[in-house]
Amino acid sequence: MRSASMPMAAGTGLEPGFRGVICASFGAGDTAKLHSGGQLHHDFRFEAATPEALAELRSALGCSNVGVRLMLAGPTADIRAAAAAAAECGIEQEEMTLLSEETAPRAIYCPHCHSATATLRAAGSEVQCQGCGTKLATTDHFSRRMGAYLGYSAHVEEAA
Ligand SMILES: [Zn+2]
Repeated sequence: MRSASMPMAAGTGLEPGFRGVICASFGAGDTAKLHSGGQLHHDFRFEAATPEALAELRSALGCSNVGVRLMLAGPTADIRAAAAAAAECGIEQEEMTLLSEETAPRAIYCPHCHSATATLRAAGSEVQCQGCGTKLATTDHFSRRMGAYLGYSAHVEEAA
């Protein structure tokens, strides 16, 4: 990592014509778990959606081509501001994924090994337990006692 003085609008490290996923996270928001394997992506981390942060995001989007996808994670206010900035750059709504802190990440409780696995996936999808590797189907049932959503083994019949 070189830390030469940053040229204007070139500090993003994005090639002109970048095609892939641009992930921008704000505050404690984290897009790292979202990367589907092998997909070209570029990460930004910002403390908040400051004018400087939005300017950097705009310049990144400005030099990317059609086909780019944008993922935003963090507090709702920040990702809304970033989404607005992206819209100004011509990014369509359907090219953006907004993950407000209210929706992500969720902890899924594993009934087998009693560990919790963080996921950004919606209820009804499957996640692999970080503790024991069991494929867990996620539910909408939040357990206050566990502090997590309850998962259940998605392939019970195979384990029998
Ligand atoms: Zn487990």
